[in-house]
Amino acid sequence: MPGKDWRAELIAAVQPGNYRYDEPMSHHTSFRIGGPADLMIEVGTPDELARTVDYCRQAGIFWFLLGRGTNLLVKDEGIRGVVLKLAGEFSRITIEGEKIKAGAALSLAMVAEQAARHGLAGFEFASGIPGSIGGAVFMNAGAYGREMKDVVSAVHVYEPGQGFKIYQRDEMEFAYRSSRLQTEGGICLEVLLALTPGEEGLIRQEMGELNSRRREKQPLEYPSAGSVFKRPSHDFAGRLIEEAGLKGKQVGKAQVALKHAGFIINLGGATAQDVLELIALVQEEVYRKSGVWLEPEIRVIGGS
Ligand SMILES: Cc1cc2nc3c(=O)[nH]c(=O)nc-3n(C[C@H](O)[C@H](O)[C@H](O)COP(=O)(O)OP(=O)(O)OC[C@H]3O[C@@H](n4cnc5c(N)ncnc54)[C@H](O)[C@@H]3O)c2cc1C
Repeated sequence: MPGKDWRAELIAAVQPGNYRYDEPMSHHTSFRIGGPADLMIEVGTPDELARTVDYCRQAGIFWFLLGRGTNLLVKDEGIRGVVLKLAGEFSRITIEGEKIKAGAALSLAMVAEQAARHGLAGFEFASGIPGSIGGAVFMNAGAYGREMKDVVSAVHVYEPGQGFKIYQRDEMEFAYRSSRLQTEGGICLEVLLALTPGEEGLIRQEMGELNSRRREKQPLEYPSAGSVFKRPSHDFAGRLIEEAGLKGKQVGKAQVALKHAGFIINLGGATAQDVLELIALVQEEVYRKSGVWLEPEIRVIGGS
């Protein structure tokens, strides 16, 4: 177990470039919800990342890798341990022919913009997903019939206790909103994307159309973590929730969005507890009405 001064000891041992004590996670999640993390460290190089993770593992300190916080519900008690955020070298991008090498910290929107500028098609679907490259690989994020597995060629990974590895697409065990990073606990450092030549104007048109569909259908004016539940087989979570009469249902300041019943939104000042209670209520009511148990897609972390 870590001692009383574990934070000072960790900082002295690892010498991180950038760190903060008691950092409110509500500043780092798209839900705008979440209590403080004991320690938040920005890591700028693969070496710094490995050093920090290895120290935490050996000292028995909980650690968590944060992307852009767009698929997360952090509990009100916050996180007892270390939150790591990739920065520095993890924000590099290089483009050679039809291949893009993208650091895990980059936003999907930024990579989609670079792809368009270089006349590379195939990444349009990701331009409106608000996550990072690393989070998108971890989740095998997707939209409008395409997902990361369609464009990822290889992934550079750090596996705590195992070291640095490169996995080809076929080794990534991509499935619906899942990848081997979830089952094996690897950290995505960088991705090689294989795209196809296209015309910049058409690529931008496609991105524009997909993003206006998003604005029309999704309550983007409120903080949320996107779709709360995974898509059940042969149906849609939003449809089942709407059919159960739960659109607009509220617990505290958390609400099943009127615009899209698959989203839970923060009306302002919602707590993680509000969201968790609303999720449980939706699961039970939908199950009672349709016999389908909705599985959360968002990841819940933290607690004392
Ligand atoms: C308005 C809105 C719309 C959305 N639309 C979509 C959509 O259309 N399709 C879709 O799939 N998702 C959608 N999402 C959900 C979310 O954007 C994706 O799941 C995204 O991939 C999460 O990336 P992130 O960087 O924010 O990860 P985070 O939320 O920070 O983390 C999610 C998980 O990924 C892990 N992780 C993050 N970075 C890494 C890394 N480098 N290596 C290993 N693990 C990592 C974290 O530890 C965590 O377990 C939406 C969310 C919002 C708010």
